[in-house]
Amino acid sequence: MKRFSIQLALTISLCFPRLVSAAQEPKALPQPDSRYKADILVVVAHPDDEAGATSYLARALDEGKRVAVVFTTRGSDGANSASEEQAAALGDIRDIEARRALATFGIANVWFMGGKDTPSQNVLQSLANWGHGACLEQLVRIVRLTRAEVIVTVLPGTFIGEDHGDHQAAGVLATEAFELAGDPTAFPEQLAGPTKRLEPFLENLRPWQPKKIYYSPDADREDLFRGLGPSYSGKDVSRTTHKSYGRMALEGFRTHETQAKGYLDRIAGMEDAQIQKLAESDGWEGAQQFVRGKSLVGGSVTGDIFEGVTVGAIPFARTETLPEPAHVELSVELGGPWSFYADFRRLHGLTHLPHPEPPEIALQEHSTIVIPLWVRNGTAKTQEISLSATLPTGWMLQSGTGKFTVAAKQVAAARIEIMLPAVAETETMKAEPQEVSVHAESNGQTIGDVKLRVEVRKRTLPQ
Ligand SMILES: [Zn+2]
Repeated sequence: MKRFSIQLALTISLCFPRLVSAAQEPKALPQPDSRYKADILVVVAHPDDEAGATSYLARALDEGKRVAVVFTTRGSDGANSASEEQAAALGDIRDIEARRALATFGIANVWFMGGKDTPSQNVLQSLANWGHGACLEQLVRIVRLTRAEVIVTVLPGTFIGEDHGDHQAAGVLATEAFELAGDPTAFPEQLAGPTKRLEPFLENLRPWQPKKIYYSPDADREDLFRGLGPSYSGKDVSRTTHKSYGRMALEGFRTHETQAKGYLDRIAGMEDAQIQKLAESDGWEGAQQFVRGKSLVGGSVTGDIFEGVTVGAIPFARTETLPEPAHVELSVELGGPWSFYADFRRLHGLTHLPHPEPPEIALQEHSTIVIPLWVRNGTAKTQEISLSATLPTGWMLQSGTGKFTVAAKQVAAARIEIMLPAVAETETMKAEPQEVSVHAESNGQTIGDVKLRVEVRKRTLPQ
């Protein structure tokens, strides 16, 4: 009897589906949290690095764009010119300074990742010290959460300039996240829907493919970047604040007391007209130059950052890569960050990104420059390689030259270490970069010449 009534009920519901649906109102399932949607996601390394983009961000906010910012570190290795706290405690302070700086523009969606501030110009050291994988996972999560239309970050590359390894690493991570956030197989645990009412592990995000990525150069030579992306004047005046965008960037920077106490105290004692003069003379109102990394929605190279960007998701786009270039059987090439960046540009579809030739770097006086080399032996027998270096006057070779053997079909790592001299640099005159060259021979034949332009400075690596 009981079985009969269940069958009857099933038959009725299958025959009269309208009757059943009329009895049950559909409920809307939750959607992504629109409060965290970002038109621009800025990815930088240290609290105060946002100042490199705030002149443009103030303009974008005027145009109604929503901005979110990610700091990959909390700046705990920087100097403190305001008070006694150092290290992790300084990181706590700088976290708040950056939040307050961005609040002056009305930017509240700010995240700090777990990267450790790394005082080096070697991007690979920064990535190693940050915990590259864990940071990338965090950044992919934030791209998916914010459904960022455009990513703005630092140009990855080795240049003469400030060019902090952490700044470069922020650009590397942002590029990787641009490519992975839309991939449904990348960090899939972030994308799985909940299996419990109070889901503790699965995040229920969706894949998201950002549409464009732009880089802000951290290098001295402006000619390398001109025409490779849009440029925005810091002199243009905001219709909401009636101040120039450059002046707004300067005002935003005033929370960073640990980084520039003397400078900020000087400003605090100034009349408005004097501050405006400073905004002009100290470069705050200079043009903000970007390099276009990728656009999946067309638009011209130097056109507006939002040219071609329209509302709505676009499909995941896997990067087309170029094959590895053929190597001659016996060769020597620059290794370390330089060979990493050559592979990075090739495998991320970024071969148009600027990079100086010969490669360059700025280092502090009395420090040791390490020139990393890959020595390739593609022949079928062990080969003797001879390395020699030509140095500018006063530079001292410490190690790495001489005769070596490399086994058949092997690639060996070598490094040449050179002590840099003192530099007679003054406030107004910087020392000119000088060239170091490494010559490699085998069986009396040249197998490679590696050149590097090095600028020796009194001091490098400001935060
Ligand atoms: Zn920095």
